Amino acid sequence: MHIEKITTGTHEEVLFCTDERSGLRAIIAVHDTTLGPALGGCRYWRYDGVEDALADAMRLSAGMTAKAALAGVPFGGGKAVIMADPQHEKTPAMMRAFGRFIETLNGRYITGEDVGVSPADMAHVAEETTHVAGLTTGRFASGDPSPITAEGVFRCMKLAAAQVFGSDSLRGRIVALQGLGHVGLSLAGKMRADGAQVVAADMNPKAVDAARDLGVQIVAPDRILTQEADILAPCALGGVIDHDSIAGLRVRMICGAANNQLATPDCAQELHRRGILYCPDYVVNAGGLINIAREALQIGDADWASDKLEAAVANFGELIAWAAKDRRPPLEEADAMVQKILQDGWRQSHAM
Ligand code: NAD
Repeated sequence: MHIEKITTGTHEEVLFCTDERSGLRAIIAVHDTTLGPALGGCRYWRYDGVEDALADAMRLSAGMTAKAALAGVPFGGGKAVIMADPQHEKTPAMMRAFGRFIETLNGRYITGEDVGVSPADMAHVAEETTHVAGLTTGRFASGDPSPITAEGVFRCMKLAAAQVFGSDSLRGRIVALQGLGHVGLSLAGKMRADGAQVVAADMNPKAVDAARDLGVQIVAPDRILTQEADILAPCALGGVIDHDSIAGLRVRMICGAANNQLATPDCAQELHRRGILYCPDYVVNAGGLINIAREALQIGDADWASDKLEAAVANFGELIAWAAKDRRPPLEEADAMVQKILQDGWRQSHAM
């Protein structure tokens, strides 16, 4: 087991972890622990190199800090990425090795599932460390976070629709949905039940079949971002909204679950200039974090998560109302609120 510390000007701690025996190569990024231990999932992904993996871990962990701050849960932001490598399959031994690295952080980082990692993988991580959440067994187990994530995105979408279209009903609205995975499919069901016409894309034939059963119209993945619709819901991977894709958008608002939807922060300004309401990803997709926070805090009351979600959705409603009044992109408003919450938290923790 080998740990190399990577110095950055932005993150409290970034570790490059290698375990030769299992073939594990992972990066653990602890962004900010002002409000509590860093909480955030572990992603298993095929990266184009270490730089690419590092950039992903750093952006995702910073997003978790913002998400936890606005969701009002006492956690900081962290994230781990495991670099998939065709030479070394993901094995129980690899996940156990990952768990041993988590353990060396003594609870400063609590891991969970993210794209490419299953509850079974997390059960292996839990053999080596208690600093793991999102398990399917155990007294406080919170299981799959996707349904509550989808519920949060759906409710925020309705609030944003009320601002943009004058009604919170999705009846008759066309939603272009990218990604029919755990969250995307659940969101599709909710939008269909509310009367929306859903046009979606995914490369996974099983996901596509399941969506067709819900009455979803399927288009090729390379057509979804230019689909004429009222709303775009990115629920696949990050970075899909860049200056090129913005030029081809034919929607009036964007609200989806994917983390880090904007390739660069200045995209928020460009969307605003074009009259497209961008609902900040880390605000609308906080349901999963809230769900996992309940487990990490060992709260047995299942209503805790639904109450927190309701508060987070209400905050989102206020956020877009303020942004509209100030004529600024909601992301700028959200980022400013996060900075204030972190500054207040820092002052409180350093008060004599
Ligand atoms: P998932 O892996 O279950 O689903 C992602 C889906 O997107 C897959 O079906 C995949 O085939 C599809 N996809 C990938 N690239 C695509 C493309 N270019 N075009 C169309 N489809 C594409 O993941 P998930 O759990 O549903 O999460 C979706 C997104 O939401 C991720 O960015 C994740 O980080 C974020 N998120 C998830 C949760 C949660 O609770 N699961 C919480 C917060 C944020």
